[in-house]
Amino acid sequence: MDNKEYLKEERNEPWREELRKSMKNKDRVAIPRVKMPELDATYRSRSYDEVNLGLSLEQAVQEAKRCLDCPDPSCMSGCPVGVNIPKFVKNIERNEILEAAKALKETSALPAVCGRVCPQEKQCESQCIHLKMKSESVAIGHLERFAADYEREKGSISVPQLAASNGIKIAVAGSGPAGLSFAGDMAKYGYDVTVFEALHEIGGVLKYGIPEFRLPNSIVDVEINILQKMGVKFITNCIVGKTISYEDLHEQGFKGIFVATGAGLPNFMNIPGENLSGVLSSNEYLTRINLMGANREDTETPVFFGKKVAIIGGGNTAMDSVRTARRLGADKAMIVYRRSEEEMPARLEEVKHAKEEGIIFLTLHNPIEYIGDEKGRIKQMVLQKMELGEPDASGRRRPVEIPGAIETLDVDLVIVAIGVSPNPLIPSTFSGLNVSKWGTIIVNQDSLQTDLSDVYAGGDIVRGGATVILAMGDGRKAAAAMHKK
Ligand SMILES: Cc1cc2nc3c(=O)[nH]c(=O)nc-3n(C[C@H](O)[C@H](O)[C@H](O)COP(=O)(O)OP(=O)(O)OC[C@H]3O[C@@H](n4cnc5c(N)ncnc54)[C@H](O)[C@@H]3O)c2cc1C
Repeated sequence: MDNKEYLKEERNEPWREELRKSMKNKDRVAIPRVKMPELDATYRSRSYDEVNLGLSLEQAVQEAKRCLDCPDPSCMSGCPVGVNIPKFVKNIERNEILEAAKALKETSALPAVCGRVCPQEKQCESQCIHLKMKSESVAIGHLERFAADYEREKGSISVPQLAASNGIKIAVAGSGPAGLSFAGDMAKYGYDVTVFEALHEIGGVLKYGIPEFRLPNSIVDVEINILQKMGVKFITNCIVGKTISYEDLHEQGFKGIFVATGAGLPNFMNIPGENLSGVLSSNEYLTRINLMGANREDTETPVFFGKKVAIIGGGNTAMDSVRTARRLGADKAMIVYRRSEEEMPARLEEVKHAKEEGIIFLTLHNPIEYIGDEKGRIKQMVLQKMELGEPDASGRRRPVEIPGAIETLDVDLVIVAIGVSPNPLIPSTFSGLNVSKWGTIIVNQDSLQTDLSDVYAGGDIVRGGATVILAMGDGRKAAAAMHKK
């Protein structure tokens, strides 16, 4: 049976038919979209508590009623891993929340994470039938988070069933979403999986990048614990390509390797003054705070808590950095972005939350120089004002300099968040890998196999900086292909 037929058969199950008949579509569409309860903006701008509080059962059931259970659910085409959205949403409507959580797990390894950080407005929700009727889309992301949290809070998360052990050793380099989802699927197939992680913490960007107020570490730890219960071994503080080589892995009997080392190398603009003290990358800033407690008074590795902080960039990393700076006491926490707000790659929710928390948006501004004091510490930045021109290759309108429109601002901390590149270590030490001019590993698109027949790769190391759900999807795809081989 192909997937379409399977979906049709499930939709025709008596409980789904009954549910559809229980309410007219026009009444479903008339229900207003639920609002995610959240912490007060003044309180949270000084706190690390999670901003979004999650839906109540009543709110979730009411929101689930808005879904029309379409015969050809367009929302699913917007999901990179093809989550069976109507199935999990309709299970919420009939109050079978654990069934909803199970439906999510059929295709998504980390639903509590994705429900919090996926850009749903650009994916599943952007394809919702409601939009064609000039109504707001079903809050699929909020419902996903609800079902996953409910399962966890009820203590009902079960360890998936595993195939009998086949004793074949598989190595994973990197413990971000790509590595974790690959490890989970390979363990289910019966392999003996070891994940090697360069840092002292497991979780990749989910831990070192995305702050607690958006994604608590405890949520990620639950998923990691399940993998451990499934027999996946984790070795931290181990850099593949340095601490342990490709040849060492072979000698230790590993028959397959999945490279999921992400894109953690920060980009800089190469403008004068970027080497001044007080100018740092968002990666360093967030990692020091999220993994090394640099925000604590008693830390041995502090970061400077600026009062006038500028973050350069307009993506999720920039939003996470600027909201962190605000929480660390910045009076002026500013986003400096060379295009307009419309072109910002950050999730809409993050931009909204940032504004509510008092973040200043200097759009259509681009730094051209940083000026230091006599001790080599940043004190000012020079900004070039921009306007929008014709669309560029990305389809977004190109920022163009306005001649002579220059401004100088006082700052005491600058965080550069203008994108990342893959770490070159594995591409340069696994001889025989095919690497693009951007440093990403080139793979067969169907299997994610590299030019080395026992090495597969996925996530940001293949795509450049992308998203959690795409990384997870790659992990699953590579696992299926390696198992089939
Ligand atoms: C601050 C920030 C916020 C983000 N917000 C969002 C968001 O809201 N929504 C969203 O969908 N996406 C978001 N992203 C992007 C998303 O997190 C990434 O696309 C995703 O994490 C990529 O997953 P990955 O598994 O490929 O790599 P990563 O998550 O980067 O994990 C790679 C892991 O490999 C380890 N590693 C590297 N080299 C080696 C080596 N040689 N040996 C062993 N281990 C190694 C690294 O230490 C790391 O732990 C954000 C990214 C950042 C930086």
